[in-house]
Amino acid sequence: MSHKDLSRVNVGILALQGDFEAHQRMLEERVGVATSLVRTPRELATVDALVLPGGESTTIGKLMERIGLDRAIRERAQQGMPLFGTCAGLILLAQDIEGRPEQPTLGLLPITVARNAFGRQVDSFEADIPVQLRPDGPSELMRGVFIRAPYVTCVEPEVQILARFQGKVVAVRQERILAIAFHPELTDDPRIHAFFVDLIPAAS
Ligand code: GLN
Repeated sequence: MSHKDLSRVNVGILALQGDFEAHQRMLEERVGVATSLVRTPRELATVDALVLPGGESTTIGKLMERIGLDRAIRERAQQGMPLFGTCAGLILLAQDIEGRPEQPTLGLLPITVARNAFGRQVDSFEADIPVQLRPDGPSELMRGVFIRAPYVTCVEPEVQILARFQGKVVAVRQERILAIAFHPELTDDPRIHAFFVDLIPAAS
């Protein structure tokens, strides 16, 4: 858990489409941090970090572009704002999507992802996944809820791999950007969200 003053932190949650309310509940009720829903560049300017929820990555990507949130998010990311994407959020952070060069993404993580990659027969499933959040920390089992989930097919060396499932990369981090193919927000386990809040620079 975080040692910094959480009362000064406000975590934004992109709320254009998808399961943003589950992230809000997790962060407010289990991690104990304030959140704001973000739908405009103006709202983005008021938050210290941003969560990109699961949902439909094509829809969220198009809406972000229409509203000008894509540029605003890239700008904040360059200034060091932490970002956390789950499932569709992971896809939106990626530089490339297999077979879909036209789909808009933020392109902030030098990874390639494949959408709906676990196959049609297993649209959604759950599994215990060993996750190593900190390079010097232990690998811990976490419940992975996968819903038409992507996985990462290619990572540049500067990207840290936090978890694999069936040999496929399903969680990565580069500095203050965290991306997870499954849905920790749909469980009772706040460890990944708490880890993300720890990436927020101490409020001044
Ligand atoms: N399959 C969705 C997509 O490609 C992601 C699914 C999810 O976020 N649960 O956008």
